[in-house]
Amino acid sequence: MEYQNYINGRWVKSSDDQIFEQRNPANLDEVTGKWPKSTRKDAQHAVEAAHEAFPAWADLGVHGRAEYLTKAVDVLKGRIDEIAATLTEENGKTLEEGRTEAKSAVKEMEFQIAQGLSMCGETAQSAQKGVFAYAIRRPLGAVSIICPWNFPFNVPGRKCTPALISGNTVVMKPASLTPKAGKAFVDLFIESGLPRGVLNLITGGGSTVGEEMITNPMVEAISFTGSTDTGKSIQQSVAKSLTRTQLELGGKNPAVVLEDADLDISVDNVAKAAFACAGQWCTSTSRAIVVRNVLDVFTKKLLQRVKNIRVGDGRSDVDMGPVCGTDQLKTILDYINIGQEEGACLAHGGNRLSDNGLDKGCFVEPTVFTEVTPDMRIAQEEIFGPVLSVLVAEDFQHALELANQVEFGLSSSIFTKDLSRAFQFLEKTEVGLTHVNMMTAYREPQLSFGGVKSSGHGIPESGKTGLEFFTEHKVAFVNYNMTP
Ligand code: NAD
Repeated sequence: MEYQNYINGRWVKSSDDQIFEQRNPANLDEVTGKWPKSTRKDAQHAVEAAHEAFPAWADLGVHGRAEYLTKAVDVLKGRIDEIAATLTEENGKTLEEGRTEAKSAVKEMEFQIAQGLSMCGETAQSAQKGVFAYAIRRPLGAVSIICPWNFPFNVPGRKCTPALISGNTVVMKPASLTPKAGKAFVDLFIESGLPRGVLNLITGGGSTVGEEMITNPMVEAISFTGSTDTGKSIQQSVAKSLTRTQLELGGKNPAVVLEDADLDISVDNVAKAAFACAGQWCTSTSRAIVVRNVLDVFTKKLLQRVKNIRVGDGRSDVDMGPVCGTDQLKTILDYINIGQEEGACLAHGGNRLSDNGLDKGCFVEPTVFTEVTPDMRIAQEEIFGPVLSVLVAEDFQHALELANQVEFGLSSSIFTKDLSRAFQFLEKTEVGLTHVNMMTAYREPQLSFGGVKSSGHGIPESGKTGLEFFTEHKVAFVNYNMTP
């Protein structure tokens, strides 16, 4: 099936008729769709459409806008299974993981709509008698939203909803590995009757479409989720234009396990966050930092748990699907080789899976490295796949040092019953999202989500800051004391 861009309320081809194919990572013979390989000119049209639609959409008022958005969420609620199937087909995650993603998009969207409705600004006591002082929030204009393939439905939900409810218009680009998930998102709004030009969808490459979406002078803000390298290049491109950016980037998330931890709870949470969605959550646990005197027991329980992970096509009864595409497959297998060359011990997995029909897909065994030292590349770089590195720490302080000894700062966890150490960890861990006795990936939509260090830049998404990013402040003073 051949799909099109959605620009200014119409489905349109790319201006030079070029297309690209998306393939199911569980079976690369299966083409899931053909999509416009759009040009910069197409992206320019999309930005112009959003720019033209902005004044009317902003003037509509938040209650008017909420009606469209609420209808879109209602459509989504009836479409969870269909969207999950799309996510499985394009990304490879299991159907259950797809359902979880679609359901969490409902929660993100509902929260942001409610936030928009309560966006009242603030009043303040003026220093002058007879002067009324207040601040309001205004939308920015046309904004660019650039999405990754790992949460291709939820990320549009948590970016586009605050953008739209606060009165901005949007050009959204899905990753080329997951365009149908982006279309499924936009379809909700088409069915809700959203005015033309308010939400535009464009598919194509980062260096063409993406480049136009970040450099076009009509774009007032860019919300991007993806790799740290791309995020840095976006920030460099906008340095001269002062375009506002929200960059949600990569991670190398540690789970610290102390000697007093409940090891069953620790293992459950580490294994879940390391291997769910084939380790392709930005908040996946990629380093387990375990104090020496529980290392053996922890590792034994962990390997037992990992051995039971059933890998296969996400449409069947399995625990873990393929990784998302051939580039991912190559990067992950390369890192597994690097880990072995660096002298880490391959304690489990490490291979591409090819038996029982898996040879047609991008399947990798859940992989555990032990005896990993902090200087190794597998302990420092984001692998973004089902590969967990186990590092040993001498004590709590050492574990904390190791946890922070990376360029990334997205999420972390500590497993302990010691309240004092738990709070010391919460205070000192250099991340935007942290946990005690919970997995590194746990989050809820009512609180902000964003990384520090090389994991993020700008006002974080979700929670109250979700809306803040897409609005600017205007402060007013009114003198009503007209008597002389
Ligand atoms: P990516 O950087 O390759 O691509 C992300 C998006 O940016 C895609 O739509 C891509 O087409 C586009 N893009 C690429 N080059 C561009 C350019 N020069 N200008 C504009 N757009 C460009 O990332 P990915 O592989 O799709 O996603 C995986 C990465 O995303 C991982 O590093 C992961 O940790 C990160 N991630 C972070 C979060 C978070 O919230 N921090 C959430 C999900 C994923």
